[in-house]
Amino acid sequence: MTFWGTRGTRMVTGDPFMRYGRKTICAEVRCGNRVIVLDAGSGLVPLGSAMMKNGIRRFDLLLTHAHYDHVEGIPFFEPFYDPGFTVNFWSGKLKGIRRTRDIVDGLMKEPYFPIRQEKFLADIRYRDVEDHAVIDLGDGIEVHTTRLHHPGGATGYRIEYGGKRFAFITDTTHAPGQRDTELVAFLKGVDALAYDCSYLDAEFPRFASFGHSTWEEAERLREAAGAGRVFGIHHMPFRDDAALDAISAQIEKDKGLCTVTKDGMKVTF
Ligand SMILES: [Zn+2]
Ligand SMILES: [Zn+2]
Repeated sequence: MTFWGTRGTRMVTGDPFMRYGRKTICAEVRCGNRVIVLDAGSGLVPLGSAMMKNGIRRFDLLLTHAHYDHVEGIPFFEPFYDPGFTVNFWSGKLKGIRRTRDIVDGLMKEPYFPIRQEKFLADIRYRDVEDHAVIDLGDGIEVHTTRLHHPGGATGYRIEYGGKRFAFITDTTHAPGQRDTELVAFLKGVDALAYDCSYLDAEFPRFASFGHSTWEEAERLREAAGAGRVFGIHHMPFRDDAALDAISAQIEKDKGLCTVTKDGMKVTF
């Protein structure tokens, strides 16, 4: 898989941010010759350019929720304006909106954006998914869903293919000192997960109502679920390269199985 965007909340730019995430959340998972895209932040834009070049013409897009840092790539995503593409576009229930199509409609209208989604030329099939559902994508790929703890709601996904299981858990928060037994069960034995590592435990009390989680909680969850690797995503805009280097060094010292993700990072498991 490839992490195309790992920054949370908003894009960042400038010298202190050159090595880790500048673009917002987007990841690409390859299962055989199938492509699954997770979230559509600004990292979706370079993924679109790559698809135009490498011949990918069919994929599934799974949206966790509709906050800007997870959808802002959609109006600028080249494959949506190309009739050669076929896309299944999935999302779960969110506060105030019922259908995946309505999310895109709300994002692409005057005065926010001059082009309506009717101008898309790709064959886009909007799909609405329930919590705790199992989606059969064909070719031996199954996607399971769960509800996350985030203002307005968010959907967590677990992709299963060829005996491997990967979970994508952002944005979500936790209750300090309490085990989220539902999430632990959802993550039981996964080979890898991407997790909302917005904060450190020491910072968490200040941001407890923001709907995000911590590096330390990622490691606690990994242990409780007997999971493999954790890829920390959703870096906060105040976290520059030096701060993420420090987190990375700390994680290595603790022999944890967490990795600080970077835009463009490719991993195989
Ligand atoms: Zn976010
Ligand atoms: Zn969010």
